Amino acid sequence: MKARLFAANWKMHQAPADAAAFLRTFLDQYTRQQDRRVLFFPPAVSLHVVVDATRERSDIGAGIQNLHWEDKGAFTGETSAALARGAGARYALVGHSERRQLFGETDAQTGLKMAAAVRAGLTPVLCVGETLSEREAGETLGVVARQLRAGLAGLEPSAVASAIVAYEPVWAIGTGRTATPADAAEVHQAIAAVIRALIGERGGAVPILYGGSVNRSNVEALLATDGVDGVLVGGASLDAEQWLAIVRAG
Ligand code: PEP
Repeated sequence: MKARLFAANWKMHQAPADAAAFLRTFLDQYTRQQDRRVLFFPPAVSLHVVVDATRERSDIGAGIQNLHWEDKGAFTGETSAALARGAGARYALVGHSERRQLFGETDAQTGLKMAAAVRAGLTPVLCVGETLSEREAGETLGVVARQLRAGLAGLEPSAVASAIVAYEPVWAIGTGRTATPADAAEVHQAIAAVIRALIGERGGAVPILYGGSVNRSNVEALLATDGVDGVLVGGASLDAEQWLAIVRAG
């Protein structure tokens, strides 16, 4: 059975002192559970705080929210996967909808970032999901399949098998709207089918997370949904008590 994954995307919140205070509360109360792992994606300036505080906890990992696809060079303001790995990151979010929508990240760039993450030894979390207008036009499965294929195109099958995918419908992120378990089940099943078509049966090992306004009230139903292997959580991961309730669910 796959370990459940609970990933916190702190976005542009939690300065180092805030991250340290959060982790003191969280780590005091959260003991290791065999069946789950917790991942934190702090802003880059707070990565070292998460890495240091969780050094002894193999059930907890830290990652970056974005990366440049080159390994190094004259790219002022950017962070490479190799730099993040050197700073203790083990994971990287790639293709988050805020990167795609607000910063114009393309499918092709997402593919380059996935390859860069793997080159540096990071486990990438490829985020895919449709906008509201795409859903209303009946394009959900096509959009998600296109984003998946582009994101995974530059990876060897073994790297695809070690990656993580997050289905995050854009209309559900930060809006308080969540996909119904039936909506999520349909898309998770389609994602699993695309991955199996790419790398065969071992694609079944790739965890597929759901993200989009997950909170302590809806997490149980989402985790009980067929094909949902964990959750990627933004807003509700910023409060230590709520995050504790979420990581104990399921
Ligand atoms: C996210 O940022 O990945 C996310 C799912 O945000 P929220 O939980 O706030 O919708």
